[in-house]
Amino acid sequence: MTPTPMHLDIGDRLRLRKPHPCGSYDWQVVRLGADIGLRCEKCGRRILLPRAEVERRTRQVLSRAMDTDTNTPTS
Ligand SMILES: [Zn+2]
Repeated sequence: MTPTPMHLDIGDRLRLRKPHPCGSYDWQVVRLGADIGLRCEKCGRRILLPRAEVERRTRQVLSRAMDTDTNTPTS
């Protein structure tokens, strides 16, 4: 089995398997690199996790950064 690396971009929203202490499962990608920066969507707290850890903890990708643009009303 070949593991497929997860594609991550700044602005992607992820739902993790375990909730933050504030109760939110949803995080936004705010930094890319060897460590991935995530910001809690509820309390705004930022964390850094190794990419492998992010991939293991992610349950679902909620939206892509580019999808968010198309959903934003232009008016
Ligand atoms: Zn939080």
